[in-house]
Amino acid sequence: MKVTIIGCSGSFPGPDSPASCYLLEAEGFRMLLDLGAGALGALQRHIGLYDVDAICLSHLHADHCLDMCGYHVARTYGPEAPYPRVPVVAPADASKRLAAAYGMPDEPALETAFDFRPLTAGTFEVGPFTLTARLVNHPVEAYGFRVSHGGRTVAYSGDTGECAELVKLAEDADLMLCEASFVDRPGLPTDLHLSGRQAAVHAAKAGAGRLVLTHLVPWNDQATVLDDASRGGYDGPIELARSGAVYELA
Ligand SMILES: [Zn+2]
Ligand SMILES: [Zn+2]
Repeated sequence: MKVTIIGCSGSFPGPDSPASCYLLEAEGFRMLLDLGAGALGALQRHIGLYDVDAICLSHLHADHCLDMCGYHVARTYGPEAPYPRVPVVAPADASKRLAAAYGMPDEPALETAFDFRPLTAGTFEVGPFTLTARLVNHPVEAYGFRVSHGGRTVAYSGDTGECAELVKLAEDADLMLCEASFVDRPGLPTDLHLSGRQAAVHAAKAGAGRLVLTHLVPWNDQATVLDDASRGGYDGPIELARSGAVYELA
């Protein structure tokens, strides 16, 4: 399995990265985890515009799904349209919410491009991948993902505060993409996001093989976020996510 970080900026795009989007490839199948603001542009540095086989949306905050609107245009009106509808596994409101974001008067118009399938907690197959989704700790219906293929596993936190389910998702994962939205300090908001230290605490409990801190909010000093993570009791490798970074899990 090949994992490419398309977008790792938290809450809104930064100067060097779009918002959340991760490309997972195996056996020629290409799946996106999230398609946040700006990600559709950077995605085209790595694969063709029409080469996406499936999309999974962790939740419906704009920084995780808004480029679905632009991708609908590409797949509905592109030069060789109609293109096959892309399966989209997402919280049940996705079709309605994205149609509203697009400005469609008639729902569910985005379904010319996408085949929406309701996401619930559980384990299911998407192409060659086995996915497990669990509800995480965020103010809206939000999931983290565990994705396995060929004996290798990547875990993605989505957006979450401290969360026992996240530890289960990342148990013995080769790679943990964990959000680190906050600079660590006493009295952080609860049930919303994690600091680098909290991300590392979860990685340590899970026994993850590698921790990549992501959902990095542009107003933070990322060196501080990385330093925070070094104080979480995790003894594996830790690094900051970067748009364009590739991890080959084989
Ligand atoms: Zn977010
Ligand atoms: Zn969110």
